[in-house]
Amino acid sequence: MELHRRMSRQAERYGSRLVVERAEALTQICGGFAVRSASLTLHARTVILATGVAVTEPQVDNLAEAVACGAVRYCPICDGLETGGKRIAVLGSKGASLGEAIFLRTYSDDITLLRATQACVLSQDQREDAARNGIRLEERLPEAIELVGDQLLVRFANSESDWFNIVYPCLGSAPRSDFAAALGADTTATGGLLVDSRQQTNIPGLYAAGDVLEGLDQIATACGQGATAATAIHNRLRQL
Ligand SMILES: Cc1cc2nc3c(=O)[nH]c(=O)nc-3n(C[C@H](O)[C@H](O)[C@H](O)COP(=O)(O)OP(=O)(O)OC[C@H]3O[C@@H](n4cnc5c(N)ncnc54)[C@H](O)[C@@H]3O)c2cc1C
Repeated sequence: MELHRRMSRQAERYGSRLVVERAEALTQICGGFAVRSASLTLHARTVILATGVAVTEPQVDNLAEAVACGAVRYCPICDGLETGGKRIAVLGSKGASLGEAIFLRTYSDDITLLRATQACVLSQDQREDAARNGIRLEERLPEAIELVGDQLLVRFANSESDWFNIVYPCLGSAPRSDFAAALGADTTATGGLLVDSRQQTNIPGLYAAGDVLEGLDQIATACGQGATAATAIHNRLRQL
C-alpha cells in the first residue's frame, strides 16, 4: 500500500490525473478514444489497457486467510522457491495443471495433482508424463478444502481426507480484454491480447501491457511492457 501511495504521488507530481473508478466502456471516437465510467467520460488520443486477468478462485473455506498465510498460492514462478520440501497439491484437471505440478517438482519431491472435476481430462501420455516426473495423481474428487491451522485439509467422499502444506489452484484465468476485443483487437483463442513489438494492438493508438496479454504473468514483465508502450506513445504523440 505504501509503495502504491508513493507511486501515485509521483505520477501526480508529473501531471497525471488519477481517477479511481471502474471503466465501463471504451469506444473509438474521431482522433482517439473515449473511456466512460459512472461519473465521467475521458477522451484520449491513445490508451494503454492494463486490466489484468480474472483468476478462477477455488472453493476453499477461509480462502482469504489461506492466501494470507501462504497455504493457498497462485503463482509457482513467483514463490515456488519458498516451497522446498513441502507437501504440495496442484488443483486442476487440465494439462496446464500438470505443467504447473512438474514445474514445482524442482522444489519439492511431494507433489500431488488434485482433480477439480469428476471427469479425468488427462490423456494417457500426460498420465505417463506425471508418473515419469514423480507426480502423484489423486483420483478422488475433493468434496471440500479447508484451512486447519496453517495446513489445508482436503476432504473426499466416505470421510476420507488428506492434507497439504500448500495448494496451488490452477483453474484457469481470463484476460480482461473485452474492451479491446469489442473494438476488434486481435486476441488469442484464450482472450489474451496480441500486440506488436511496441505493445500496440492492431487498433491504432490502443496499446496493452501486463497480464491482459498472452505471456508471462509477472510484475517485471508488466512493467517492461508498460515502459515500452509509454515510450512508443510519447514518440507517437510528438508526431501528431
Ligand atoms: C496471488 C498472486 C501472487 C503473485 N505474486 C507475484 C510475485 O511474487 N511476483 C511477480 O512478479 N508477480 C506475481 N504475481 C503476478 C502479478 O501480480 C501480475 O503479473 C501483475 O500484477 C500484472 O499486472 P497488471 O497491471 O497486468 O494486472 P493487475 O495487477 O491485475 O492490475 C489490473 C488492474 O486493472 C483493474 N481493472 C480491471 N478492469 C478494470 C476496469 N474496467 N476499470 C478499472 N480498473 C479495472 C483491476 O482491478 C486491477 O487493479 C502474482 C499474482 C497473484 C494472483
